[in-house]
Amino acid sequence: MKKIKDLPKIKRPREKLEKYGGISIMDKKKIEKAIKEILEAIGVDHKKKDLLDTPKRVAEMYEEIFAGVHKDPEEELEVVLDQKHHEIILLKGIPLYSICEHHLLPFIGKAHIAYIPKNGRVTGLSKLVRVVDILSRRPQLQERLTTQIAEIIMSKLKPMGVMVVIEAEHLCMSMRGVRKPGMLTITSAVRGIFRENQKTRSEALALMKQ
Ligand code: ZN
Repeated sequence: MKKIKDLPKIKRPREKLEKYGGISIMDKKKIEKAIKEILEAIGVDHKKKDLLDTPKRVAEMYEEIFAGVHKDPEEELEVVLDQKHHEIILLKGIPLYSICEHHLLPFIGKAHIAYIPKNGRVTGLSKLVRVVDILSRRPQLQERLTTQIAEIIMSKLKPMGVMVVIEAEHLCMSMRGVRKPGMLTITSAVRGIFRENQKTRSEALALMKQ
């Protein structure tokens, strides 16, 4: 068993990670042990040949799909000065894969981000994709994910406004519970001019729907 001191060191101060719902330690041995126990508890023999490596595989997968827990999305959002842009910048259909923290099942969909820069403060489109990626790779709630993306853009880019829309299918609603496959949950977070000005908001929405 790994001791705490052998675990990977996290560069970020704990408070900063916690601000966005992150924790600071991933213990793969502990995940393996837990998966064995879950298999046992549901009545499956985890010592069966084909299942022998399953706990290890799941632990490795968790390390990958929860990698965002250990990363700070704010660091990814570099601010570049470019005075040419005064209108809406829209990034549409960013692929999104996250895990619902209520059921630990995936929710899969797309994120759309619109913002209007102020004083030429913009960022690379790939940086926005990174922010979505980091925040998705955590046990999440779609509503919170939407808000976090909007808030990070507001605090880092200080734009005129930002609007984030996420549409996603939750497997916890498709394969269990209400069992409604294909149903999309849509959430939005609207800040600044997009909140204050109906016309600007409609313009962004129309672009997202196109
Ligand atoms: Zn769920």
